[in-house]
Amino acid sequence: MSMLPVLPPYADETTVSWCSRVARFHTGLNCPDFLKLTEISQANVMNLSGEAVKRLSKLTGVSEPQILGCGPQKAGERLLTYNGEVFGSRFMTRTYTSYCPACLLDDATGEANGDRVGRLSWMLAFVRMCPRHGITLTRRKNSGYSGRFQDMDKVAPSDQELVEQVKVAEAASESPLQAYVTDRFAGGEGPGWMDAQHIDQAALACEMLGVCRVFGAHTNIKQLTNLQRHEAGAVGMEAVSRGPDGICAILQDIMQESTIKKPSGGPQAALGRIFLLLQFNESKQEPGPIKDVVRDFIVDHMSVEPGTVLFGVAVAQRKRHSVGTLSKASGLHPKTLNRALVLTGLLAGGNPDEIESRRTFDADDGEALARSIKNSTPIKKIPDYLNCNRRQAQMMVKNGILTKVGNDPSITSGLLSNVANEDIDNFLVKFRAAGLSVAVASVGMIDVITASEIARVPVADIVALVLAGKLSKVETGCGTLRFRSVFVDAEEVRSAAAGVVAEHGLTPKEAASRMGLKSPAIENLRTSMDVNGQPFLKGIKLTNARGTVRYCYAEEEVKKFCEVYITLKEFADLHGIGAKQMAEKLANEGVEPIMDRNVLRAKVFRRTDL
Ligand SMILES: [Zn+2]
Repeated sequence: MSMLPVLPPYADETTVSWCSRVARFHTGLNCPDFLKLTEISQANVMNLSGEAVKRLSKLTGVSEPQILGCGPQKAGERLLTYNGEVFGSRFMTRTYTSYCPACLLDDATGEANGDRVGRLSWMLAFVRMCPRHGITLTRRKNSGYSGRFQDMDKVAPSDQELVEQVKVAEAASESPLQAYVTDRFAGGEGPGWMDAQHIDQAALACEMLGVCRVFGAHTNIKQLTNLQRHEAGAVGMEAVSRGPDGICAILQDIMQESTIKKPSGGPQAALGRIFLLLQFNESKQEPGPIKDVVRDFIVDHMSVEPGTVLFGVAVAQRKRHSVGTLSKASGLHPKTLNRALVLTGLLAGGNPDEIESRRTFDADDGEALARSIKNSTPIKKIPDYLNCNRRQAQMMVKNGILTKVGNDPSITSGLLSNVANEDIDNFLVKFRAAGLSVAVASVGMIDVITASEIARVPVADIVALVLAGKLSKVETGCGTLRFRSVFVDAEEVRSAAAGVVAEHGLTPKEAASRMGLKSPAIENLRTSMDVNGQPFLKGIKLTNARGTVRYCYAEEEVKKFCEVYITLKEFADLHGIGAKQMAEKLANEGVEPIMDRNVLRAKVFRRTDL
């Protein structure tokens, strides 16, 4: 037997609100008395226990699924379920009284026959405004247990006071986060990454990140107004809806902001509330996948000691170092280390003289650099290490065959001006590997230092020739000779060195022969200016390892010269007369050569003068 007429619940109406209406309509009793009469406990009504739902259905004629639409059921320890969603109990809380005063005033004249209707959505922690009225909800903590029942006749004030509350309520528009929460409860779909976790986890991630982004990582959340939290949630959702990439981007922004205020400290100092929430989890609500994303972010961006317990899991491997942590681990002075890190680009754009304590770099690369610095040799000791002399060692560093650990040629003292032993060893291996292994050097084959003296080619240039594979004959003898264990042919070295010059252009001798002049004339043409203030012949400057400068000449340049100028001999030949005769003829005509004949050792004329 059920009570007629059947009074079904309204959309979004709470069980308590619906029960109150049924009680008043059919029995004239208030809800608690009605429940006492029907022997259903208030707690079972609030929790929609299976037994209570069955009894209420029989009594009221309303179907069990319809009654279940009026509120959440328990789904385990600190968990509730509603319309297929499972979420932490704090998400739909009874510890707060919340309502829209304007909605309650509307009820007096609306379809509810003057009864106040309690809305389920008002109980959702992340619903903070009424989309119908565009104002923030009135929300306060319950003073006692009875408030949990959320009977709007009891917990909300008189209509007169409600009118006052409407007047002072802050205007607010629905945030994307609130829309997401209510849509999802109604069975709608949202951004994939958010939908793949519990609704409360997704919403909390949005709000926490938003709050830290808008108000700073160390803001006191309890001091924020509902409207401030509402607006911060929208900022957070913009990031969270993009999944881990969006979250990392907003974490980066949050970290950057806190670094300005607080340049040192670990992840707690950088991420503040987000870190505290995930590390200490005082609410005992499982935070969901945000935990892994933030954890990865911390390990990927901050210096975290292996073994550190981060959000309940020990960090297995260090991925980043700061100057401070690597200095501690390596024993190198932080200033030396910072300088090296900046100069080698591991701390790109950093200041070599100023340590940024929050900045981190790849741990493996940093450790490798620290190892190089610690296992390095001053240039003055390289001769012992390599079996060469000091000048040769310096020349190889100057020419980039060996590099200073500081990666900056201008560093002349201190650890960073050393060369890493690994670098020297690798060089020696490569150098020796270029030759054919022999027990005794073949006839005519000599070590590079001796070859340098004979061929008059700097040692570093010979090394470069060997490493570049430009010599056909290279032998490698006993390893104990180190630098002197590689043998070359002095004659081949000489021609190969000349070949290097030839790669860039014609030698002065070659250029002179094409121009019908003697070699010394070339130098004078390079250094003297024509009528346009340009050199008669442009040279290409070549510097060898010892710093000796030579010039060569592009074929094109020589050709251009011959098009503009002509020697007396060539001009005479062209006219089938002797040079002397032609010289007299030109002198009579007043045609002058471009330079004194003693300077060029020949008379050269501009073709247009003839
Ligand atoms: Zn409203």
